[in-house]
Amino acid sequence: MKKIAMKNPVVEMDGDEMTRVLWQWIKEDLICPFVELRTEYYDLGLPNRDKTDDRVTVEAAEANKKYKVGVKCATITPNAQRVEEYKLKQMWKSPNGTIRRILDGTVFRAPILAKGITPYIPGWKKPIVLARHAYGDVYSGVETRTAAGDKAYLVVEDGQGAVKEKLLVHDFSKGGGIVQSVHNLDASIASFARSCFNYALDVKMPLWFATKDTISKKYDHRFKDIFAEIFEAEYKDKFAAAGLEYMYTLIDDAVARVVRSEGGILWACKNYDGDVMSDMVATAYGSLGMMTSVLVSPDGNYEFEAAHGTVTRHYYKHLRGEETSTNSVATIFAWTGALAKRGELDGTADLVAFAKKLEAATVRTIEEGEMTGDLVPLFCSEGVQPKKLSSRAFLQAVASKL
Ligand code: NAP
Ligand code: MG
Repeated sequence: MKKIAMKNPVVEMDGDEMTRVLWQWIKEDLICPFVELRTEYYDLGLPNRDKTDDRVTVEAAEANKKYKVGVKCATITPNAQRVEEYKLKQMWKSPNGTIRRILDGTVFRAPILAKGITPYIPGWKKPIVLARHAYGDVYSGVETRTAAGDKAYLVVEDGQGAVKEKLLVHDFSKGGGIVQSVHNLDASIASFARSCFNYALDVKMPLWFATKDTISKKYDHRFKDIFAEIFEAEYKDKFAAAGLEYMYTLIDDAVARVVRSEGGILWACKNYDGDVMSDMVATAYGSLGMMTSVLVSPDGNYEFEAAHGTVTRHYYKHLRGEETSTNSVATIFAWTGALAKRGELDGTADLVAFAKKLEAATVRTIEEGEMTGDLVPLFCSEGVQPKKLSSRAFLQAVASKL
């Protein structure tokens, strides 16, 4: 068989633990037999990040900017225990955080649906894609405790240090408490808005955005206004032409509407709402192993990955020589997402077609009863008895279907 050619490479970012093992097998069993794979390889595994003083992460992100399309394996974000375990020079930052800062993007998370895996909310028939703003708010907040008698102010100085505004936050004369200050940037909100509008047009889904602007009349209202201004000026006609809707509502109303909906929505969330709601949505669809994630930057760079981590517990089983049954679906879809996007940008239709076929084969394997252990207790389909396969056997089942 003549393999499918690639015009340009994708940036390949290898990772850690069980997902690093799956990474290799996915390439061996599902991609390299069919595609003349061209990648720019960066080893983001923790030992190599430590060896290169984390330069490899920055280089990979720069390469992602150059080639536009990257695919990333899950990586360890070191904590104190990992510093000990891997004898690290220091507690390196989260690679995803570093890549996000360099690409300046928005993270979109979408569930992979298969017949037989019923969401906990049975009315959800189509995917709900969650777009999370990844800058500011409480994640870069400043906070402190106050004592009885303290007064807390919000003070703004101009560039020369002159006080422009001084607002009383609270007079703690009746007792001590807590105080917090958060910020965001017009430019970051604007790039978040454009990423969401572009992505909605890309995947042909209506866009919902929600904040609490009735309560937060300056802060959340600014988000609402920036989205509205950019929509009016740049996207209204494109949405109309695509038959799509942009809806703004209040966050509590959005939650109620999402639960009642049948899915098929792109849901844009502020940073904290996105953090909380993406775990709710992922869990409600069934399994962490079935959730994909893509970072899209406003200037059109794409980085695809699985939404889950390195599945540490399974990796230690694997190291002991025991059989694992780790779900590789989200990692397979990270690869198909990247290959399809590469094909789309390069005008290589056969590469796009291959990615779609691999996705269909993966979903069909599950629908016809062959799956990893995490899905077995969720599976219910008339006349189909679910069979638990090992990590590798699942990939081989997909390969034979493909
Ligand atoms: P995790 O790797 O997602 O795993 C949590 C648990 O969820 C697993 O122990 C497993 O449950 C289940 N699970 C997750 N993915 C699965 C899959 N593909 N197939 C089957 N079961 C799956 O999260 P974590 O344990 O919190 O983090 C482990 C490491 O991953 C950490 O070092 C963290 O820094 C890193 N991490 C990386 C990323 C990323 O690179 N994007 C994201 C999150 C976490 P059972 O053990 O019960 O089977
Ligand atoms: Mg979270």
